[in-house]
Order: sequence, then structure tokens, then C-alpha cells
Amino acid sequence: MSTALPTFDDVVAASERLRGVAHRTPVMTSTTADAIAGANVFFKAENYQRMGAFKFRGGYNAIAKLTPEQRAKGVLTFSSGNHAQAIALASKLQGVKATIIMPLDAPAAKRAATEGYGGTVVTYDRYKEDRAAVAKRMQAETGATLIPPYDHADVISGQGTAAKELFEEVGDLDYLFVCLGGGGLLAGSALSAAALSPSCQVFGVEPEAGNDGQQSLRAGKIVTIPTPKSIADGALTTYLGDLTFPIIQDKVKDILTVSDAQLVTTLKFFAERMKMVVEPTGCLAAAAVLQKVHPVAGARVGVIISGGNVDLKAYGEFLAG
Ligand SMILES: *Cc1c(COP(=O)(O)O)cnc(C)c1O
Repeated sequence: MSTALPTFDDVVAASERLRGVAHRTPVMTSTTADAIAGANVFFKAENYQRMGAFKFRGGYNAIAKLTPEQRAKGVLTFSSGNHAQAIALASKLQGVKATIIMPLDAPAAKRAATEGYGGTVVTYDRYKEDRAAVAKRMQAETGATLIPPYDHADVISGQGTAAKELFEEVGDLDYLFVCLGGGGLLAGSALSAAALSPSCQVFGVEPEAGNDGQQSLRAGKIVTIPTPKSIADGALTTYLGDLTFPIIQDKVKDILTVSDAQLVTTLKFFAERMKMVVEPTGCLAAAAVLQKVHPVAGARVGVIISGGNVDLKAYGEFLAG
């Protein structure tokens, strides 16, 4: 795996690989959202991406760059969330075998979705074994290539293609808000913003309970926190990546946080006003704008909605609550 930082040229190359494969997702607007924010808000709707989240972009790009020898041995990852489904689908489309390591107690629906896309799920006991150790052992046995969820140059450049499409469609923006877990989406988006709308200020948004990114940016080094508790289950990472952090440090203006209550309010706004199903993690960036965590009055504002995969029972409870 390369440790060189990706550049905007890599994002451009990724967008060529994704042409005709990834959906060019719609940019949505809402008069009500504009009125609430006092701004022109452009929502890039990656909840409509294949498998329901932007993760398809990075996963597909990373697999497309493998050599024939690497392809023959398959790919491997550990995740029980959107990255697992992204790798399963992207592998199937490229004729590559994918093995996904999940904890024994991963939700049955997530496991079924990953298997539905053609991935082989291998489980481990999270109370007895460390997933990285399981991955290492399987890698040694099979020679498969490990594709991590965010700290990988080809994953970052793939994720950057969503913001690239947004700038190409709407032109210059004053602000871009992006949700933040391990930082693949934020780093990639920041590369696109710096190249396509250099005066745009890019903000990361993470759950209040899991503000390792905010702490890291302020401390000037990667800060690790205990596993946070939040309904934003796609952003419960405990540290930024060795590749994502330097890009974020260089190109991101600041990192903001929102509470779970603010996420629920935003999730309901999307359902009621914009007729969109957005998962809690996918609401992070929008919550910062619609709940006025950062003032944007009079500005042109981009917001990336990162995904729409939510358990229907939980979704119903959010709407009813
Ligand atoms: C993975 C994920 C994130 C966080 O992305 P990072 O690249 O890890 O920062 C945000 N939203 C959704 C829906 C995700 O699946």
C-alpha cells in the first residue's frame, strides 16, 4: 500500500474509472432549507449512490487499481457497515472475490446485505479476537489485498469524486460541509474543493460524543478517543488516518460537532420536507447548517449527504420520537 498522499489528479483519475459505474447523484435544493439557513444550500445526495452511500466510490476505485495478480487473490476488509457493502458490490462488478470480516454479533440485516452483494462474510468473536489480527491471518493465508475503509490513497481519491461532481454542477461555493468518521470523505472532498473552488471553506462535522477529529485538528496531531456512543453509527471511528489527517490539517478550515438530538431533527426534516431517507450519519453535515452550528447567512453552501442505509425499525422510531 502506498503511503503517498493522494492529489486532485488522483480524484480526476478516479472519476474516469467511476464513469458509467457510479451514479452521478442528484444535487437537491429546498426553499425551506434555504429559508432556515438564510443561504443557498446545495445538497449532494449520496444516499442515492449505489448501495446507498458514497463508500461505493472509494471501494470501486481501489479495486479498479489492483494488478491482475492482486485481483486473482481477491480483496479483504473488516467492517459491518457501508464499507462492507461497498467492497462486496464493487468486487462483484469487477469479478474479484471479496471477503468481509465481521463480528459474530453484527446485525443480521448488515450481514445479509453484504452477502446479497456477493461478499463472503467471515465472523470472529470480538470479545476474544482483534479484527486486525484476524485480517492479518487471513491475508497471510490467502494473499488477498486489504482495503481499509478510509486510510488508503485510492479510497480517499474515490470519495473525492462526489464533491468534484457537486462543484462541476453548481460552480463556486463559499462553504462545503462534510461528515467525518475516519476522514476519507472529508479529505477527498477537500482535495476537490481546493482545486475547483479555492476560496471555499471546508468544514468537517462529527458527532459531539466522538470529536476525535476536532481534538486532533486543534492539537495538531492524531488524537485517539474511546469508542463513542452516538446514533451516527458510520462515524464512530476513534482516530483519523495517517493519510486523511495531513490532508484535513492542510485543507480543512475547522471541524464542528452536532448532537444526536440535532441529527434526529435533521433526519425528520429530510423525510418531511425533502422526501428523502437519510441515515443518522448522513445527516451530520446538514445538521451543522440547518441547526446553525456555523453561520452561513447569505452564502452559497454545499452539503454532502453521505448515505441512506438505516434500519427501518430504528428509522420509524426516530420519526416518531
Ligand atoms: C463511512 C461513512 C461516513 C464517514 O466517512 P469517513 O470517510 O470514514 O470519514 C459518513 N457517512 C456514512 C453514511 C458512511 O458510510
